[in-house]
Amino acid sequence: MHLITLIPGDGIGPEITKAVTDILAAAKAPIQWEEQNAGQTTFDQSGELIPQALLTSLEKTKVALKGPITTPVGKGFRSINVTLRQKYDLYQNVRPAKTTAGLTSRYEGINLVLFRENTEGLYAGLELFDEHLGIADSIARNTVAGARKICRAAFAYADKHGRKKVTLAHKANILKIAGKLMLDACAAAAAEFPHIVYEDKIIDNMCMQLVTKPEQFDVIVTTNLFGDILSDLCAGLVGGLGVVAGANIGDDMAVFEAVHGSAPDIAGQGKANPTALLRSALMMLEHLGEHAIAERIEKALNATLANKAECTGDLGGSASTSEFAQHIIAKL
Ligand code: NAD
Repeated sequence: MHLITLIPGDGIGPEITKAVTDILAAAKAPIQWEEQNAGQTTFDQSGELIPQALLTSLEKTKVALKGPITTPVGKGFRSINVTLRQKYDLYQNVRPAKTTAGLTSRYEGINLVLFRENTEGLYAGLELFDEHLGIADSIARNTVAGARKICRAAFAYADKHGRKKVTLAHKANILKIAGKLMLDACAAAAAEFPHIVYEDKIIDNMCMQLVTKPEQFDVIVTTNLFGDILSDLCAGLVGGLGVVAGANIGDDMAVFEAVHGSAPDIAGQGKANPTALLRSALMMLEHLGEHAIAERIEKALNATLANKAECTGDLGGSASTSEFAQHIIAKL
């Protein structure tokens, strides 16, 4: 039995979390949940955004499944996602994007995994505003150690999963120092895994290539800001944010999360699609070594996604969140 921290989150979080835990229970996944929430809901209830009980649970279980959390734009509290990533050095943001039958997309044959550096760069939290001069500085801090860790993680993943190529996306033509950190780190990792093809591309060209010939990519590695943007771009190639998984992984802790937001416009209406969180839970099961159960659920999910009538409204169907979950459960 694996003890896992469950963070339902805000908005549609509790609805999609219920669907996912129902499906995992029906598949007899050996998981015991320890539920601890964070975010707007806990703040409204107790005045705490990240209760100590959640941190204590994470430090004990080392693995969490997390729903979306509401973050006010341009004001208020710092993103809880960013806080957890930095506090626990969850330096890998892993985002698979794969074509799935039944999901509407302009593209076919995509099967890539993006590795985004998750704690440094422009998201290091180093922002200052000089009111007198009217200057806002946002400092992108990258470290040699951070670059090495994320590049090596991308190659190690490619090696473990039989992937053939790693592409580094960077801007070393302009950001000569920070860009070179990544180029050097990737060259070192590539030397360790000589059977994996290594190439690098400048970020603007990378975007163009991704929307014209995305099937050429296998594993992509990049810095925090570029990765944030590219990962949503990749989601758009395979059906959108409602259907892609995400994981924040460190050397001794991992938080698996739906990458879409808390969707306040549809919260509480039974309309939310739980696929993104379910796929994140499947990544979690793989991480826990429960490959057979993950595969069984994935097959049932894919068979459900292939039949629009069984899907939620965002995918062109008319099923509610719980009906969609029941269609998956029926196929297990
Ligand atoms: P959003 O992803 O919540 O919603 C964008 C649109 O997509 C909405 O129309 C919504 O109804 C729809 N949508 C999103 N997820 C869906 C699902 N599972 N099923 C069906 N439809 C879905 O983005 P937003 O409106 O920009 O952000 C809302 C809040 O979520 C903000 O506070 C934002 O900061 C937060 N957010 C959190 C995370 C996270 O916790 N990982 C990620 C992104 C945004």
